[in-house]
Amino acid sequence: MNRPSLPAGREMKRAFDNASSLVGEDAHRKRPKNDPMHQSNTPLRFLVVHKVLCSRHNNHPPESELYKDTPRLYRGDDRTAQLRGTTILEEDVLSEEFAEENPDVSFIVIREYDCGVYHDAARDQFKHIPVSDNMIHVLRKFKVQLTMLNEDASEANPVAERIALISEGVSSGMKSVRSAYPSYFLSSDPAIGDLMAPYPDFYHGRTILTEESLDSLGDLDEEQKGHVVLLSGYVQSSCASDYKEADEQFQHGVVSKMHFDKLFSPEDIVIRSTEAGPRAYCVRRVETTPLRIVRLDCWSWAFDGKFYQDHSRWDIPWSARADEVSIDSLLLYPLRLGSTRLRNQLHERGKVYWEFRNRKMVEYNSLSSGFELQPVSRAPRYYLTTTGLTITLG
Ligand SMILES: [Zn+2]
Repeated sequence: MNRPSLPAGREMKRAFDNASSLVGEDAHRKRPKNDPMHQSNTPLRFLVVHKVLCSRHNNHPPESELYKDTPRLYRGDDRTAQLRGTTILEEDVLSEEFAEENPDVSFIVIREYDCGVYHDAARDQFKHIPVSDNMIHVLRKFKVQLTMLNEDASEANPVAERIALISEGVSSGMKSVRSAYPSYFLSSDPAIGDLMAPYPDFYHGRTILTEESLDSLGDLDEEQKGHVVLLSGYVQSSCASDYKEADEQFQHGVVSKMHFDKLFSPEDIVIRSTEAGPRAYCVRRVETTPLRIVRLDCWSWAFDGKFYQDHSRWDIPWSARADEVSIDSLLLYPLRLGSTRLRNQLHERGKVYWEFRNRKMVEYNSLSSGFELQPVSRAPRYYLTTTGLTITLG
């Protein structure tokens, strides 16, 4: 039997394939021996649950219960059947009571499926039901076709995934990480909500969440570190192919809509092309809106007689109809992914700028304001203009 092709979820499913190996004993992480809860010798673990959403069929609930198994349709189902799993979770695994009673459960992975999308993909698997000639006549009169599945259809592919951080250990552990790296992992604040795949924070913070790096923080106890490493391990495993594909695109100077929200990292230097030449900004915070607009909070040096940090916010929409666009065609783009020539150009300009900034300014002549500082020495004169810094000997 052919596997249903679900274009909307195909890439997501591929990214999640590796995760299945974690949903078992391998997903467990032993509690440290100095942990009071170690008395039960219960390893840390996470749960993967499945939820069906339906906006296609009037008689289906918009949201299903949570299932233990991956939803699908089954032998004998017709085209009005609801996508579903076989085992409904009895417990409310997202409740505070569950978290208190199951301190070994660090987080819950919730995979979401679209009933209508699944039906579209499984359309060819429905077979006509043989009926008598008289029945065919009646069915034609009412423009009805009788079809059903002769065998179970394939498991559905998720269209979305999110993670609920339910344990105190993982929440406080990630809070400590955010304290050490204030620009990273902002989405792991429970006040914001669940973590949403493909977890761009964890793409950019890959090197921060290794055991070695966490050891160097010093702010996490062994319990918290165990939770954070378990969470990071799940994300890095389930998104491994997704992250690898993003890396390959960026290395080739292009970005697709799918990887757009991974393009910008906190602390990136980003470039904006202006009539006066490229201008650089330092990224303080990256946020992706539901409309797939990447919002960057930035700062840059500015000068109005004295130097100061100029703060700005930039919204970068994905508006291209093409599958991929050149990174340097965007409103802003990371300098690390720009051309070598641009990096060298800005580096040289910056060296002169900081000489001017720190010790050699003798005259400032703004073309727009006419503001001017008088020379204070016989050193070469440095002029800051709208197109950059110019130097004259005089
Ligand atoms: Zn439905």
